[in-house]
Amino acid sequence: MTLVDPHGRRINYLRLSVTDRCNLRCRYCMPAEGRVKVGHGDILSYEELLRVARAAVAIGVEKIRVTGGEPLVRRGIIDFLRRLAAIPGLRRLVLTTNGVMLPEMAVPLRDAGVESLNISLDSLRPETFAAITRGGDLRQVLAGIAAAESAGFRFIKINVVVMRGVNDDELEEFAALTLDRPYRVRFIEYMPTLAEPGWEATVMPGAEILARLSRRFAMTDEASENLAGPARYQRIAGAAGLVGVITPVSCHFCGDCNRIRVTSTGIAKSCLFDCGTVDLRPVLAGGDDAALRDALCRVVAEKPDRHQLTEGGGEKGRIDMDRIGG
Ligand code: SAM
Ligand code: SF4
Ligand code: SF4
Repeated sequence: MTLVDPHGRRINYLRLSVTDRCNLRCRYCMPAEGRVKVGHGDILSYEELLRVARAAVAIGVEKIRVTGGEPLVRRGIIDFLRRLAAIPGLRRLVLTTNGVMLPEMAVPLRDAGVESLNISLDSLRPETFAAITRGGDLRQVLAGIAAAESAGFRFIKINVVVMRGVNDDELEEFAALTLDRPYRVRFIEYMPTLAEPGWEATVMPGAEILARLSRRFAMTDEASENLAGPARYQRIAGAAGLVGVITPVSCHFCGDCNRIRVTSTGIAKSCLFDCGTVDLRPVLAGGDDAALRDALCRVVAEKPDRHQLTEGGGEKGRIDMDRIGG
């Protein structure tokens, strides 16, 4: 089945958050004081998440990204992923992680059917990494990336949220990682999810990131493939991997948006920056999977054509990234 929203975009991608808990506390994602934890009873069970996933695939979703919070901290995640990967009609199962638990979990994830990993890493310097993550240990993530590479994932994408004055001096170093490793390093514009005053100063626009990189490296455009995400990729001459820029703020990719989201508490969202939400829990409690498919179709029908961050919309409210999953 093909699922098309009112703006003519084909929707075939679900981002599914399985937990709001995390073993890091990144400064752009969570407030310093942390969050009031959602009780275990409020988080969808794996059975419920599988029902949501099956309903989504039945209406036209072909790719699911499992995210969080940190998805690898939820007990039983490997078995859940194995069941998710087995859903007929699902073409691609991928996962976003902070990488901390990958040294032990990379091989089980690969065996469970996860095709590729997005690993978040915002600094290659131990002190900056610890400051951004409020205490994280860079060595764990670097070991996690190495473990993912040995486990044989199709792609290893490294997501770098670029923050002016925090880690923008590391752009070239990150890009240079692709010279001999097959990674896709993606620079993401910082989004004002915590709606802090003056957030604009922290955003480094994608165009500026690319201009900086092209002063140092000779780069050529790479064609994007089917079911690809929002990154536009370039290859440094002779490099094994690719660099990409994701520009949610400056040049929104909303025109190509193909996604819906479901949070770990069962809220389906039509857009990251929009209140178009449907609470799936009553529908799940009713036990009728046709109603679940209808509810997801309603979410698609409510998709806005684009976000309004650059028109001041970013200060309207906070976005709980740790609950929504990015
Ligand atoms: N814990 C996992 C991780 O960090 O990869 C998965 C969840 S995390 C919320 C998903 C992605 O959202 C991460 O790549 C993170 O960098 C990104 N993210 C969170 N807050 C962001 C922000 N304010 N601006 C840009 N990206 C953000
Ligand atoms: Fe945790 Fe990921 Fe948010 Fe960092 S970005 S606090 S690792 S959920
Ligand atoms: Fe899609 Fe909303 Fe993100 Fe735009 S802001 S790409 S419409 S989810």
